[in-house]
Amino acid sequence: MKCEATSLNEMFGCNVFNDAVMRERLPKATYKALKKTIDGGVPLDPAVAEVVANAMKDWAIEKGATHFTHWFQPMTGVTAEKHDAFISPTADGKVIMEFSGKELIKGEPDASSFPSGGLRATFEARGYTAWDCTSPAFLKEDPAGVTLCIPTAFCSYTGEALDKKTPLLRSMEAISKQALRVLKLFGNTTATRVITTVGPEQEYFLVDRELYNKRKDLVFTGRTLFGAKPPKGQELEDHYFGVLKERISSFMKELNNELWKLGVSAKTQHNEVAPAQHELAPIFSTTNIATDHNQLTMEMMKKVAARHGLTCLLHEKPFAGINGSGKHNNWSMSTNDGQNLLDPGNTPHENAQFLVFLCGVIEAIDEYAELLRMSAANAGNDHRLGANEAPPAIISIFLGEQLTDILEQLEAAGTASSSKQGGELKIGVNTLPALPKDTTDRNRTSPFAFTGNKFEFRMVPSSASISGPNVVLNTIVAETLSRIADRLEKAIDFNAEVEALCKEVVVNHKKIIFNGNGYSDEWVAEAEKRGLPNISSTVEAVKHLISEKSIAVFEKHCVLSKAELYSRFEINLEAYIKQINIEALTMIEMSKRQIVPAAIKFANELAASINAVKLTGIDADVSVQAEILKDVSGTLASFKKNIEKLEKATAEAAEMHGDTYKQACAYRDEVFTAMSELRADGDKLETMIDAELWPMPTYADLLFNV
Ligand code: ADP
Ligand code: MG
Repeated sequence: MKCEATSLNEMFGCNVFNDAVMRERLPKATYKALKKTIDGGVPLDPAVAEVVANAMKDWAIEKGATHFTHWFQPMTGVTAEKHDAFISPTADGKVIMEFSGKELIKGEPDASSFPSGGLRATFEARGYTAWDCTSPAFLKEDPAGVTLCIPTAFCSYTGEALDKKTPLLRSMEAISKQALRVLKLFGNTTATRVITTVGPEQEYFLVDRELYNKRKDLVFTGRTLFGAKPPKGQELEDHYFGVLKERISSFMKELNNELWKLGVSAKTQHNEVAPAQHELAPIFSTTNIATDHNQLTMEMMKKVAARHGLTCLLHEKPFAGINGSGKHNNWSMSTNDGQNLLDPGNTPHENAQFLVFLCGVIEAIDEYAELLRMSAANAGNDHRLGANEAPPAIISIFLGEQLTDILEQLEAAGTASSSKQGGELKIGVNTLPALPKDTTDRNRTSPFAFTGNKFEFRMVPSSASISGPNVVLNTIVAETLSRIADRLEKAIDFNAEVEALCKEVVVNHKKIIFNGNGYSDEWVAEAEKRGLPNISSTVEAVKHLISEKSIAVFEKHCVLSKAELYSRFEINLEAYIKQINIEALTMIEMSKRQIVPAAIKFANELAASINAVKLTGIDADVSVQAEILKDVSGTLASFKKNIEKLEKATAEAAEMHGDTYKQACAYRDEVFTAMSELRADGDKLETMIDAELWPMPTYADLLFNV
């Protein structure tokens, strides 16, 4: 039966073919064999798949499923599915419900209409999906029925990755391999895998669906392309952590239920800084599952919002002038026997293993800062990074007082002999408890901050898959850990080599460490002095995918080949071009068919009023109408000129063929600039024209009407 559980306990994971279900439904030998693949990476036996498929089908059908789908994550950034019914015909003209091991393991969706960045021509349509048994299958319930979804990786006929999952799985293997080498040197004999863990905090906006439908820009592009500043924005800071309105809390309740059924451990929810902005954070899990779950979370947010007469905006910058949305990617490494490798313990100065892993991360971030920045680049995020609401576009690491102090000791003496302790925090009221104080304060402005036992990468775009940033993190840290292992494996005096290595990392990479205010202008100047890259746009960032350094590191760890990197470079640029192109065309349409007519109507009203007053023959003052008419007409004339400018820039950019990078530059430098100029006039007109005549909901309507 469908999941009709009422208690959270019963509800959680009721639509997931999880470990408990597998243990219950699979023969012992099959269960064990499958676990070996899931936990130990042992290749899967087709006979095992056959048994699993059958059990999965029975379970799904009992819960009302009629169809199954391979669920995959093509380079569009959203998920894809193609449903097949379980039915198989019998000789007597009826059907039986069947699902074979082959169908579980492999799918063959036509790949020709997914972005491939030139990896294959459209006539070479074949693509394969391959079962990822490390992420559990689940059931999607919707009005159309129940569908068994099987998480899969998606590749081309020639085996090249066409999706976001394949490189992620490869990067997880790469970092596991290198981290195990290091762990072994520290005497760990029990861990057989190192897993990267991720907890993504997801920000989003909710707006009234009816109002949303009246805004072509929101419908077509996910963000407002016009909109004058409302009298009230976020300046009172009354929305952050504010009391949840009932419409919002009932949305959140239903969202949680839906996510819990899917085994997504949605945990924290609150209002964010901007009006109409909210956040959801799950409990962290394995990177691969966290990525799948984040995709499901975004999808569910949209679905559930619609049921409440709302629309969920996941765009990085839906509204100018108030904060946009991001995703905080909390990241750590842990052994499969449960040890968090980034947990400093109480006396980190004595914890050489922790310091070595920490140094691995520091070196990776400094050396591959461009790649990490690239992983957070998209057209939407260009509005946020460096705009004092999100981290600057400059990558740096916040370590906090305690760790910075230890690194300084290492630099000065080669060893560290003490760790600053947090102590107790007395609030000064006897009835309030003394709180154990953290060893370090928080720093909200840092793009890559150490937060106790994990790093928080805060640049990640709200709408994007978290796969990209984690592929980069896993790969670059795999690289530095491999260097560390190479060196320590050869060491004659292990402890001395560890000390030397840590000291070297501090000396060579301390420029990446910055504990101050990342939003300040001083930091931009200081970072430049330190030689840290400041990459302000997606177009520039994406170039780093195909730098020699990038190709070398991705190929060395078998995460992405040169051909795959080039294809991703193309895909990213194309996505940028298409997005800006749609935005420009939407602006042109709104300008010509909505704003210009409204402005003319208003000008007509003013002119009519002037004439009417004059006609009365009374010697009344019409200078106010005349002045407004002049203003409106003047702005309208400038607006019209700017429409033409944007039309020209867009047409020219669209006509550029051959060099995607150059074309993307044209969109950024010509089209995007023309859009800003047009918007300035459009927003000015909004403030002049009779509210009754304004053809779309305003910022005030959108932001304060839920
Ligand atoms: P804040 O807003 O203060 O940063 P949240 O509680 O909203 O904190 O989010 C913190 C996120 O970090 C949660 O998703 C949490 O599960 C995750 N997290 C905690 N420990 C780890 C870890 N070891 N690895 C990855 N993520 C972690
Ligand atoms: Mg956070």
